[in-house]
Amino acid sequence: PLILGLESSCDDTAAAVLRGRAVLSSVVMGQNALHEAFGGVVPEIAARAHAERLDLCAEQALDEAGVTLAQVDAIAVTAGPGLIGGVLSGVMTAKGLATALNVPLIGVNHLAGHALTPRLTDGLAFPYLMLLVSGGHCQFLVVRGPQDFTRLGGTIDDAPGEAFDKTARILGLPQPGGPSVEAEAAMGDETRFRLPRPLLDREGCDLSFSGLKTAILRQRDSLVEAQGGLHAQDRADLCAGFQAAVRDVLVEKTRRAIAAYLSETPAEPAFAIAGGVAANQTLRAALEALCADAGLRFTAPPLGLCTDNAAMIAWAGSELLALGVTHDMTLQARPRWPLDRDAAPLVGHGK
Ligand code: ATP
Ligand code: FE
Repeated sequence: PLILGLESSCDDTAAAVLRGRAVLSSVVMGQNALHEAFGGVVPEIAARAHAERLDLCAEQALDEAGVTLAQVDAIAVTAGPGLIGGVLSGVMTAKGLATALNVPLIGVNHLAGHALTPRLTDGLAFPYLMLLVSGGHCQFLVVRGPQDFTRLGGTIDDAPGEAFDKTARILGLPQPGGPSVEAEAAMGDETRFRLPRPLLDREGCDLSFSGLKTAILRQRDSLVEAQGGLHAQDRADLCAGFQAAVRDVLVEKTRRAIAAYLSETPAEPAFAIAGGVAANQTLRAALEALCADAGLRFTAPPLGLCTDNAAMIAWAGSELLALGVTHDMTLQARPRWPLDRDAAPLVGHGK
């Protein structure tokens, strides 16, 4: 079927058209310029921008796909979790389209969109292990089905992307912090500053990253005090030390998640990394090596499908549709919506 997907849960307005596993178009309209001056995403501004742009974005996606609205077989939309104003805009737009076209409406969990992407890009079979690692999230999931996820653990405070961004801010590097810290780290010595590896002594797969930024802040301040400022090499060494700490923690916790996952003896053991931090080459290389050792297939979707997009929403929608899951006009936008299997179902679920 031809599926139109809509995404508006954070600061990207996105629309995409899929036919089967073919992504016919994926349009993402970012809002960086709108929020830049405020130092973060302003929910009211985001909601208004989504409301203004969703129709245009959908039109553009249909245009690029070379199809008309009348050909669309179903509408998939992010119904949460996220900033409620934006999610509401998307859900209302989707309800309008589904009613006008008289086609099924499918409410999709944004995180399920991320988690199911490796099925779209690499055709992974269930169950597979996923590390979702982004600016707002960090969790290990066993993905068993389009609505069946087991969370093995996750961050108890900051997400790694957030830690990269804060580290960049502390060291006076440009945003987003991930790419700039990675570039600096390539010129640095990761052994010069020994930064903490939080929670390694604690059992299980939970992670913590907030202590790392405090450690970076302290190192910076003591360097500034001792020598009146930061040398280029200090910056590079701090970035390298920080990135190595994130890598070591994620590798160790992934090792444990893999052990838990493999204890179920999956038929086709596979691991997928997703989210903006998955772009980090040092991290990818380390996780790829770990998977090779453990006998797991390693996959990482292309970056455009790792960060927020609507192709993943259309794909998750098509997986739900194949199970016969659609929603009616009582579909609700939810600000919070955990992925765990025992999470309460949506209103208007499973018609
Ligand atoms: P979420 O989707 O969880 O709500 P988000 O939209 O902020 O959060 P993404 O767009 O998936 O997340 O990812 C953005 C984050 O990824 C930023 O914090 C950015 O610094 C980080 N990032 C991007 N490239 C890299 C890189 N090469 N290394 C490390 N981090 C990176
Ligand atoms: Fe996201």
